[in-house]
Amino acid sequence: MIVPLIKGLQITLKHLFKKPITLMYPEEKPDVAPNFRGLHALKVSHNKAKCVACYLCPTVCPAKCITVEAGEDANHDKYAAKYEIDMLRCIFCGYCVEACPVDALGMTQTFELANYKRSDFVFTKERLLEKK
Ligand code: SF4
Ligand code: SF4
Repeated sequence: MIVPLIKGLQITLKHLFKKPITLMYPEEKPDVAPNFRGLHALKVSHNKAKCVACYLCPTVCPAKCITVEAGEDANHDKYAAKYEIDMLRCIFCGYCVEACPVDALGMTQTFELANYKRSDFVFTKERLLEKK
């Protein structure tokens, strides 16, 4: 009777002084793996988005959550007049990033995407543009 009790107490004491594996989130943030697939970012080059509105990313997206509308600038270059990702539908597979022929899209380590309104999960071009 007393032996199992002592054994149990030993296990409890052993774990009591171990480094905790839980974090006091949100005060403490977890270390995110370098290849973590979080929120997308539209990359910028020469002060403008690199996206050339080729429509490859919305085509490969299995969740069909990317909306692109092409525009033409003063130099007759194609650009994304509208670029939106609905994060409520995104499954963070990364296919869009792989498909991009001009390396215009990346995925960041941002994982805190909670919000209150459905509309706040639609990330517009302005919200996705790479923050320097
Ligand atoms: S990560 Fe996958 S699901 Fe999300 S937008 Fe890209 S292709 Fe679509
Ligand atoms: S694949 Fe790249 S260039 Fe083409 S629409 Fe998507 S982000 Fe833009």
